Amino acid sequence: MNDIELLTDTLKQSGVRITPQRLAIYKLLVESEAHPTASVIYEQIRTQFPSISLMTVYNTLETLVHLGLVNSLGSIGDDNVHYDGNTSSHINLACITCHKIVDINLPENKSQENRVSVASGFQLIGARMMYYGFCPDCQKQTNITNKKE
Ligand code: ZN
Repeated sequence: MNDIELLTDTLKQSGVRITPQRLAIYKLLVESEAHPTASVIYEQIRTQFPSISLMTVYNTLETLVHLGLVNSLGSIGDDNVHYDGNTSSHINLACITCHKIVDINLPENKSQENRVSVASGFQLIGARMMYYGFCPDCQKQTNITNKKE
C-alpha cells in the first residue's frame, strides 16, 4: 500500500471525507523532509489551492495526527508545532538555533527497546525520539563569529 492509498483507506474507515486539500497536505508532509510548521504548509498549499484558509490547514493537520498518519513533533524553541509525515521509528534532531529538524536513520537499538519494554511492561510498536542541539551549519556560524571577535 502506498502513502496515498493508506491515507484514503484510513480516512474512509474513520468516516472522514477525502478532499483534494487533505490529500495535498498529506502528500506534502510525506514527501517533505523539512518537518514543516502549519504556516509553512499553508504557504505551500496556497499555490495549489488559493482559497484555502490557515484554519483548514490546522484542522487537517489535527485530523491527520489524530488518525496516526502524521506525527506532531511539538515546538523546538520557535513556538511552532512541527509536523512529520514519516511515522516509522526514526530519530529526529532539532537545531535550537535555526530551528530545522533532520532525520537520522540508525540501526534499531534493540537493547534500549528491551530495557524500556521490560521496565514498563509495554509491548512496543514504535518509538519517537528527538535530540536537541546545534546543527553543523550553526556550529560553523558560531565558530566564524567567535573568530571575528
Ligand atoms: Zn542550525
